[in-house]
Amino acid sequence: MLIVMKTNATAYEIDAVVEAVHAMGLRAHPLAGPTRTAIGITGNTGVIEGRGFENLFGVAEVIRVTKPYKLITLDLRPEKTIVRVGDATIGGNELAIIAGPCAIESREQAFAVAEVVNQSGARFFRGGVCKPRTSPYTFQGLGEKGWTIISEIRKRFGLKVVTEALDDSSVALVEQHCDVIQIGARNMQNFSLLKRAGRSKLPVLLKRGMAATLEEFLLAAEYIMAEGNYNVILCERGIRTFAQHTRSTLDLGVVPAIRRISHLPVIVDPSHSGGVSYMVSPLARAGVAAGADGLMVEVHNQPEAALSDGAQALTLAEYAQLIKELQAIHELTAPSRDAPAQN
Ligand code: PEP
Ligand code: MN
Repeated sequence: MLIVMKTNATAYEIDAVVEAVHAMGLRAHPLAGPTRTAIGITGNTGVIEGRGFENLFGVAEVIRVTKPYKLITLDLRPEKTIVRVGDATIGGNELAIIAGPCAIESREQAFAVAEVVNQSGARFFRGGVCKPRTSPYTFQGLGEKGWTIISEIRKRFGLKVVTEALDDSSVALVEQHCDVIQIGARNMQNFSLLKRAGRSKLPVLLKRGMAATLEEFLLAAEYIMAEGNYNVILCERGIRTFAQHTRSTLDLGVVPAIRRISHLPVIVDPSHSGGVSYMVSPLARAGVAAGADGLMVEVHNQPEAALSDGAQALTLAEYAQLIKELQAIHELTAPSRDAPAQN
């Protein structure tokens, strides 16, 4: 159920509704927007009797939710969510660029890449410290030294740092050293991890599982939000299809499809979908044109020597050129970006 407050509802009236929801043993999720606050309710197993709420002061409307989602929807928040990471944003007017190597390999490597990422105007640096590799025999990340390097980058450049957490203990390390928790494709339905990230104060960048439907993807985001963390960024990174010419098939249709249902920002990862560097820039350009709020791109100072995902890494020069093009496409498509989806 969803309780929509009147536009002039006071904080006191909103609190009273939240209290009434808690008194029923349920959880209230008040999401304030520029025009009105709506309160999502979770924790019920059956239908909630909503009539009592209609009589509370400040309540405009009580809506029964028949969709599987309660919190990610435009019904709850018709305005787009802008995820704020310090003074940087994802989902606002700026195109959010998250760039860096697949993995932090050494101080020299990470700083060489961060230097160029920073010069490009990007506000976010990525770099895996714990790597979820398909084979147990490949590079699994630097571990402890990696956390030190990534926090040095954060301090030195002021870049917001995004890195993947694989389990509860790595969420705690991300919280200690970074700005955004990444949950990878392989963990999209790791429900205990989603819940742990949902209890964090940091924003969560959730990647689509490689065989996840849109509904499964959105319900994974719902897991995070149901725990009280409303700062979720969705990331399309390609899905598995019969196509063998790419590592994964970038599903660009999911960008407008998400926009139509959800207020959450959506970004595109052309690196893990293409899997080879010559595809990354074309897919990135297409992602921005399709309306993505940002991009996550892998870049390396020496792709041929990379310890993971070297084949898909852009060189520093390719990356710098790409960013210029992306900014131009973003500006060109801005007027239609947030226009309501048409039938
Ligand atoms: C990554 O971002 O380095 C990564 C492992 O991505 P994905 O989870 O999309 O495979
Ligand atoms: Mn990678």
